[in-house]
Amino acid sequence: MSDFAPDSVAFATGHYIGGEVVQAGERIDVARPSDGAAYADLPIADADIVDRAVASATKAVAASGWASQPPRERARALRRWADLIEERAVELGRLEALGSTRPIAQAVTGDVASVAEGIRFFSEWADKLGGEVAATRHDNLGMIVSEPYGVVGAITPWNFPLSMASWKVGPALAAGNAIVLKPSELTPFSTVRLAELAVEAGIPAGIFNVVQGNGVVTGDALSRHPGIAKLSFTGSTRTGIAVMKAAAETGIKPVTLELGGKSPQLVFADADLDRAAACIAGSLLANAGQACVAGSRLIVQRPVMEELVARLKARLATVAPGPTWKAATSYAPIISETQARRIDDILERSRLQGAECLLGGTRIEGHGGAFYQPTLLAGVTAQTAAVREEIFGPVLTIQAFDDEAEGLSLADHPEYGLAAGVYTADLGRGLRAMRALKAGTVWINRYSRTLDFILPTGGYKSSGIGKDLGRQAV
Ligand code: NDP
Repeated sequence: MSDFAPDSVAFATGHYIGGEVVQAGERIDVARPSDGAAYADLPIADADIVDRAVASATKAVAASGWASQPPRERARALRRWADLIEERAVELGRLEALGSTRPIAQAVTGDVASVAEGIRFFSEWADKLGGEVAATRHDNLGMIVSEPYGVVGAITPWNFPLSMASWKVGPALAAGNAIVLKPSELTPFSTVRLAELAVEAGIPAGIFNVVQGNGVVTGDALSRHPGIAKLSFTGSTRTGIAVMKAAAETGIKPVTLELGGKSPQLVFADADLDRAAACIAGSLLANAGQACVAGSRLIVQRPVMEELVARLKARLATVAPGPTWKAATSYAPIISETQARRIDDILERSRLQGAECLLGGTRIEGHGGAFYQPTLLAGVTAQTAAVREEIFGPVLTIQAFDDEAEGLSLADHPEYGLAAGVYTADLGRGLRAMRALKAGTVWINRYSRTLDFILPTGGYKSSGIGKDLGRQAV
């Protein structure tokens, strides 16, 4: 992977409706997270433009035969799209790196590669889900037939723009739907390129539409549009509630919500501490903690706390921050000054509540954009702001426990239940913890997603409803 010049990347700045770039709406500036420089402007889709995109999608479903064609044809188009994404991995990766927090090396070999493989995974369901014959009375024959919704609406966040788009678009298109997707206004452009490549691969124009804009105008208009038959959202719990309300105000439709997390890393004294430290540090450093499943609460058995914290400090002390267009950069910037101030604010309130910084706690200066030091926070309780609130930054709180019951009780968060890590040499204990923890995903002696797209992801409690990925997403 080589460096690239940020000004050398070409991209479309409009909406993508019916296979065409559309420049309509008031415009706002978009800044690069790495250095804060404004590099393009973006039109905001109002309710009329959203309506135009939904109409285009509705028409495309009816006119193109996307849903009614042999499902293997649909699968073949999706596979061609995946191949094209792979061929254009560097181009797509550069666009992703330019506008988001994803360093170029990770964007190309991680994000884009996973987008292509994820779309292949979903393509394989096109002719696999027909429904079932019900166990009725012998003289009845009842069939349960699965059908596409029609037009699906999706709203994606800024932390992994291409990946999050593929998680929504892949299953929707494989099942024969069209989609209207709103990316975050902070990271808008790579999603349009993804949609352009879909059309280039032979997916009919109008099946994948992108409306650009902010949450309160465009996101709200999409959520409440009566022509959207199903809505899928990833983002904060607060916005998830707004999306669900807006959707309900114009009718009844299913809403999938992949929301925030405050995921525990539960380490027992018999764990392989080096492995645990590697997994926990890896989760904290990945996208600088700006991930819904970030393992942000260390809950460690008292006898090994000191040793584990020492190992974590060693792993977190040397990070390589830098612009996302440099191949050597591995540590991501914070998406925006607003987000960095949120982190400042939660740390400040936590300190006032008695929290003590064992490492980091401040920004990394000198880069133009906002970067945050990996931060370890001790002296916290269940009431501390940093333990209660999702931070979306590289901050790990540390709490000690004495026995299994206390560990599990501390791991349980009153609001969130997205993911959890358990580290122990005792398989029975690991499986017991898996059953006890109220989390959509529990990793034992590891902490990261793999290319096993068959595993669904989603949350308990305010972490969401419904699933992304897996058979369940289709
Ligand atoms: P939001 O949840 O507000 O943003 C997620 C998406 O929702 C974006 O596309 C956003 O658009 C859109 N949106 C915002 N308001 C509305 C609305 N009223 N109706 C419909 N769509 C809307 O996250 P923020 O960017 O404000 O980040 C704040 C916090 O949210 C983070 O600190 C983090 O804790 C959490 N978060 C969680 C994510 C996850 O993966 N679970 C992802 C992102 C954030 P736009 O950005 O254009 O305003």
